[in-house]
Amino acid sequence: MPFSPPRIDERIIDEVTAALRSGWITTGPRVRKFETMLSEYGGQGETLCVSSCSAGMELMLRWYGVGPGDEVIVPAYTYAATANGVEHCGAKVIFVDSLPDFNIDPEAVRKAITPRTKAILPVDIGGWPCDYDALNSLIREDGIRSVFMAETEEQKSLGRILLLSDAAHSLGAKYKGRNTGSLADVTVFSFHAVKNLTTAEGGAVCLNLPQPFDNEEIYKRIRILSLHGQTKDALAKSKAGGWRYDVIEPGYKFNMTDIQAAIGIIELERYEADMLPRRRQIFDAYSDAFSTYEWALLPVFEDRERISSYHVYMLRIRDCNEAQRDRIMELIAAKGVSVNVHFVPLPMMTYYSAAGYRITDYPQAFANYSAEISLPVYYDLGDEDIQWVIRSVVAAAEEVLD
Ligand SMILES: *Cc1c(COP(=O)(O)O)cnc(C)c1O
Repeated sequence: MPFSPPRIDERIIDEVTAALRSGWITTGPRVRKFETMLSEYGGQGETLCVSSCSAGMELMLRWYGVGPGDEVIVPAYTYAATANGVEHCGAKVIFVDSLPDFNIDPEAVRKAITPRTKAILPVDIGGWPCDYDALNSLIREDGIRSVFMAETEEQKSLGRILLLSDAAHSLGAKYKGRNTGSLADVTVFSFHAVKNLTTAEGGAVCLNLPQPFDNEEIYKRIRILSLHGQTKDALAKSKAGGWRYDVIEPGYKFNMTDIQAAIGIIELERYEADMLPRRRQIFDAYSDAFSTYEWALLPVFEDRERISSYHVYMLRIRDCNEAQRDRIMELIAAKGVSVNVHFVPLPMMTYYSAAGYRITDYPQAFANYSAEISLPVYYDLGDEDIQWVIRSVVAAAEEVLD
């Protein structure tokens, strides 16, 4: 049983085929349509589709002028993409610890802020929104604003730390009735093949910057920045007489294709009606079954303020160490069920540990990691498959914990 295969059916294949037959396969009308749909769905001002979430986050760090001498706060508990883009910019990654709910700890963020801090990258782990009220008020506090060192035009206009949300997991999650997409200054989604909504590879930058920024103007600017600084994209150049263009900055190659957008359009059309409810059913089935076991620490996926996007079902085994967790996973795998760990904290990875980060500085992240097992969740996972996963997990846990 796979972990999270994409949902590819005839509707997707038909739309991709239509894009292929249309005569236009790179960035064009389908990308534009997908961007409009995403803005309506997430509630953000503007949306730029890009080649990946990683590219989108780096694009916005570059847009904000993050570079050598700057610091960016990143949770220790995340995928490498959140931190690697900061490294590409030449800035310093400042890891902070997590809360028991897996997300970044706003109090740890507060302690990590210095005059060099340019951005905070919270991650909605597993689809569970971070405490956006806490993060948004933190960056607006007088004592924190007053030490912010603005260097670029963008930094002077904002006058504070940028909140750049890595929402790779949380398309469709809700925080106080609002969708992710409009909860931070900038939110970036991932449409990688394993994510809730896929375009094979892809991402979207959601702009929600406050006054005096004009999100439409920024959209135009970052679209140029995402395509080699060219004043015209391939579609505009392809029109008769439209060949001449200029390059106004050494931009990147981060655009999405119409073939990718074709998948995304169908996925988003049925996302609320179809995808999220099915994922919710799977989460409920797992939680109902495991709630009777004392060793099971269940993930929270709904409370008064937040609703998850049900991206990863993150089960934890109580009072279990890393070796026991690994053994439980082996026994589950032996039953043919693919499971994962989200995530190995970044300070434990060779590159970051060689750079001097120590996992002992992030005890909650380590505790979350040591006990965590992610279970299969995908649209085509059948009810009998769910029961098989549950039986495999229970048998493995009881054997190891005995
Ligand atoms: C998948 C993932 C990303 C990267 O997404 P890409 O679209 O593959 O670049 C970033 N952050 C987190 C937390 C992820 O899980």
